[in-house]
Amino acid sequence: MLRRHSIIPFLLFLITGIGFGQSTFSGKTIAVTMDDLPLNIASRVTNSEMREIVERLLEKIKQEKTSVTAFVNESKLEANGKRDPERVAILKLWLDAGFDLGNHTYGHKSENEVSVAEAKEDILKGERTIKELFVDQNKKPKYFRHPFLHTGRDSITRATMYQFLDSLGYTVAPVTVDNAEWIFSAAYDKALAKNDLDLMRSVGQQYISYMRSELKYFEWMSDTLFHRPIRQILLIHSNRLNSFYYPALCSMIRAEGYSFISLEEALKDEAYQSRNTFYGGGGISWLERWAITRGYKGAFFSGDPSAPQSIMDLAGVKSE
Ligand SMILES: [Zn+2]
Repeated sequence: MLRRHSIIPFLLFLITGIGFGQSTFSGKTIAVTMDDLPLNIASRVTNSEMREIVERLLEKIKQEKTSVTAFVNESKLEANGKRDPERVAILKLWLDAGFDLGNHTYGHKSENEVSVAEAKEDILKGERTIKELFVDQNKKPKYFRHPFLHTGRDSITRATMYQFLDSLGYTVAPVTVDNAEWIFSAAYDKALAKNDLDLMRSVGQQYISYMRSELKYFEWMSDTLFHRPIRQILLIHSNRLNSFYYPALCSMIRAEGYSFISLEEALKDEAYQSRNTFYGGGGISWLERWAITRGYKGAFFSGDPSAPQSIMDLAGVKSE
């Protein structure tokens, strides 16, 4: 009898185990992309601070075993107007850890605000070091991420710039789970400057719950536009906040039923071939661009979560 009883829980375990397996791999997937390498606040830290933050961030990413495609601003590799070998060495840590690096332009100029010639120059200046680092690996940078997600103020600019990127061998990396994580990052750095551990923890916790709201919002938009969960692409930044909270962020995303994939895998989703005639000024999610293209307006977007006012105040930010 004992034997028979012990089999039942085992069978139940098998059945529920299969159930869990199905829900985990039900198609909710997400790729992580990280911008502003080597570090968002490069101009305000010493090299040793930069190394400390980046090493911790990479350690956390490795722990989570997620793929990350990371985008570099090569101006952030400079000190006093010259390329700093230590900063290049810090950038190389990403490659050594097995992550792919893409071009995020040299100086993070908005394509909506500068001339086509200036935007092109910023792209070319933004690949010099990455290309050198890639020589050993016998590869070229493949992905490009627009600063501020600004893809050109009109159809002609955008077509010209996309063609230019294409001629250089770049694939544009869109973002679907767009968010204001950068405000939480600024608030976290301010809390640290005040040496206020409780405040730092509070900012971190609010960051995770805010990101959960953003994930749910864009999941809803994906379900509404495509009647299925598309392969999402998350944008976050190389910053101190993520060097502490990346594991909590990943746990939250997994708890929402997602598994992690690479950017390359995400882009195989045919959703990324959707028509996009958005030429507005905002650096918004591609899901929102596709929605606007399809004629959705105003109230459709009213569910987009906002960063709490207290976080904006702490960060010293007026609007998202
Ligand atoms: Zn950026």
